[in-house]
Amino acid sequence: MDIRRTLATEAIAREAAVAAHNYHPLPVVLQSGRGEWLTDVDGKRYLDMMSAYSAVSHGHAHPRLVRALTEQAQRVSVTSRAYHTDTLAPFLEKLVQLTGLDRALPASGGAESVETAIKAARRWGYRIKGIAKDRAEIVVARGNFHGRTTTIIGFSTEAAYRDGFGPFTPGFRHFEFGDADSLAAAIDDNTCAVLIEPIQGEAGIIVPPDGFLRAARRLCDERKVLLILDEIQSGLGRTGRWFAFQHEGIRPDGLILGKALGGGLLPVSCFVATEELMSVFDPGSHGSTFGGNPLAAAVALEALQVIEDEGLVVRSAVLGAHLLQRLQAVDSPLIRAARGRGLWVGVDLDPARVSARAVVERMAEHGVLSKETHDTVIRFAPPLTIARASLDYGIDVFVEVLRRFER
Ligand SMILES: *Cc1c(COP(=O)(O)O)cnc(C)c1O
Repeated sequence: MDIRRTLATEAIAREAAVAAHNYHPLPVVLQSGRGEWLTDVDGKRYLDMMSAYSAVSHGHAHPRLVRALTEQAQRVSVTSRAYHTDTLAPFLEKLVQLTGLDRALPASGGAESVETAIKAARRWGYRIKGIAKDRAEIVVARGNFHGRTTTIIGFSTEAAYRDGFGPFTPGFRHFEFGDADSLAAAIDDNTCAVLIEPIQGEAGIIVPPDGFLRAARRLCDERKVLLILDEIQSGLGRTGRWFAFQHEGIRPDGLILGKALGGGLLPVSCFVATEELMSVFDPGSHGSTFGGNPLAAAVALEALQVIEDEGLVVRSAVLGAHLLQRLQAVDSPLIRAARGRGLWVGVDLDPARVSARAVVERMAEHGVLSKETHDTVIRFAPPLTIARASLDYGIDVFVEVLRRFER
C-alpha cells in the first residue's frame, strides 16, 4: 500500500470526524475532474456514470462554462434582487423560450424552487380557483422525491426521510404514481395542484406507463387543477428531450428545474410558469438572496446554450437508447429489470441474490462510479457529453463485476 493510499484513508477519517453523517459515501476521495472522468488523490481515474444526480450533465469543468463563470466573477457576482442586473433577462428569456412558458423565478438549490411552486400553487388556489382559506391541497405521488425541507419531506412516503422530523405541513394528498384512476380519485374541489416527477428518479428511475402524463394533463384541465412538474432531474436533456413532458406532447402550468441548470458549477434552480400562475407573486411575497444572481445567471445561460450548441439532447436520446439496449441485453439472474429514458437508466437487482451497494462498491474499485438507490437499483446517468467509447467501457465494467457476483 503506497503512501498516497494512506492519505486517502486519512482524508476519509478526517471527514468522518467533523462532517455530519447524513451521507454514506463510497470510499473514494475525488480531487479533480474533466468531462466524464474524475481523478482521486491517488491519481486513480474513474468514469463518472452518476454525474452528481444529473447536476453534471455537461461533464466536469466544461471549458465554456468555466470561462462564463470566471469572466462573470471578475465583473460582478452577487448584487441581490434589490437592483436590476444585465444578466437576469438573457437567462430567463432563454428559459421561457425553451419551456414554452411565460415567466421564471430563480433560486439556488432545487428544494427552494419546489417551495416556490408550492407557494404559487396555493395562492393560485385561493385567488384564482377560489378555494376557502387554508384549505388548498396539493396531490403528490407515492414514492416522490422533491427535496429535503421540512414541508417537502412532510409529504414524502419514505420513512428514512421523515423519521423524527415532524410535525409536518398539512395540505398534501397521495396517489399511486403512474395510475390515472388513483390520481382522479385523489383530486377534489380543494385540490389546487398535482405535483409530480415525470419519471421518478430517487424511487428507482420509475417510468410511468405511456399516456400517464397526458391523462394527468386532461384530469387537471377538467378539474381546474394545476399540473406542476418537478423536472429538476429529468429536465434539460436527461431523458432525450429538453423536458420529459415533451415525450407526451403536453405543457405543464408550472415547471421546476435545477441540477444541470448550474452547469455542474453552481446551484441554480428555477420555477417557470404560465402568466396566470406566476401572477400570484407580488413584491414582498417571495424571494431568495442568491436567486438569479449575476454569476448564477451567466453560468445558467451558458449551460443552456451549451446543451443547444453541442446537441446534447439528441446525444442523450441516441446514446441513451444504446445504453438501455445494452443493459436490457445483459442475461443475468441477478437483474430483475433495466428501465429508463435517455441517458438515465436504472438496473433493478434481485436483493435476495446481491446488494446494489456491494456492486457499486466493486464497480468503484474497478474505476466506474455509480450509486445505488433504494438498496436494489443501480443508476446509470453519465454526463450527456460522455464519449460513446467511455459509455461502453462503463457498461463493460458493470457487466464484468456482475458476473463475479453470479459465481
Ligand atoms: C435533487 C432533486 C430535488 C432537490 O434538489 P436540491 O438541489 O437537492 O435541493 C428535487 N426534486 C428532484 C426530482 C430532484 O431530483
